[in-house]
Amino acid sequence: MNLKDLVRPNIYALAPYSSARDEYQGHDAAVFLDANESPYNKPYNRYPDPLQREVKEKISQVKGVPPENIFLGNGSDEAIDLIFRVFCEPGLDNVVAIEPSYGMYAVCADINNVEYRRVKLHNDFSFSAEDIMQIANKRTKVVFLCSPNNPTGNLMDRKEILKLLDLFQGIVVVDEAYGDFANGKSWRFDVNTFPQLVVLNTFSKAWSSAAVRLGMAFADKEVIHYFNKVKYPYNVNQLTQEYALDLLKHSYDVEKWVKLILGERPKMISAFAMLPYCEKVYPTDANFFLAKVSNAQKIYDYLIRKGVVVRNRSKVTLCENCLRITIGTPQENTALLSALRQFEE
Ligand code: PMP
Repeated sequence: MNLKDLVRPNIYALAPYSSARDEYQGHDAAVFLDANESPYNKPYNRYPDPLQREVKEKISQVKGVPPENIFLGNGSDEAIDLIFRVFCEPGLDNVVAIEPSYGMYAVCADINNVEYRRVKLHNDFSFSAEDIMQIANKRTKVVFLCSPNNPTGNLMDRKEILKLLDLFQGIVVVDEAYGDFANGKSWRFDVNTFPQLVVLNTFSKAWSSAAVRLGMAFADKEVIHYFNKVKYPYNVNQLTQEYALDLLKHSYDVEKWVKLILGERPKMISAFAMLPYCEKVYPTDANFFLAKVSNAQKIYDYLIRKGVVVRNRSKVTLCENCLRITIGTPQENTALLSALRQFEE
């Protein structure tokens, strides 16, 4: 499989925007009158590093992936959109995704006028590579997998993903937004084995920094090159880059937060399962769990009246009468459980 054959021809041929600061590379300079910035209000008067080199170095050390295999974006949502813009010809190509899964894959497909084909998960929320191959055709450029999957919470089977990487001649995205909560080995360590593999991760979940909007894609350096061609020149702002550098120095905080969340998870699951109107709590590898109840809408509305917001996933395929519940602080979790214990059907 040749990546060159997968990328849209106009993107392959694209001359990307060249910023003022790209051109003086290799020289020392103290006076910058090249980018029409203001000389005042240092240091925020200057454009940030378009390739976020320092942040990538640090992420590389923490995540164990070489910097040239890392793309950083305004949330991992930016990487999802770039995948469409780099690989999918509007009106002609299609993508295949597991169903149910994260809603932005379908929205980005619609925005980019790319057909979105859904492959329903099995009843235990597992997927099969063969089901995907049956619905894929010559114009299928990308397959989206999410592991652990949102909203079902489960990891996708490693052997099945390997099978897909073997059978499918296009881009395979493994969205690991919730990967830091799971025990399985991350797919990011395999991007130099499989040039077609794109692994997503984010600062929004385990890294507890959804507000700063920083997402990561790990991939073959040729894929990263195409993403960099198409992205906005300064897609990650200076404040976010500085914040990330600081947080990356304190990655033990992140480990502590993940431990706290994982400590609460089994308690929440067993307490929820004891509720008289709870029919099933699904196993989870993420910082949330999916629970089937007798009447999801009624419980959702009741909880809102109590000032507690959960996610009603009832309208989603395979999730009839399901609520998706994020693990919060012990206090927040207690607030949810005590409200639920007072609920009368
Ligand atoms: N992937 C998955 C599976 C998600 O659930 C989310 C956010 N809910 C994202 C990606 C996007 O994350 P962000 O843009 O905050 O990095």
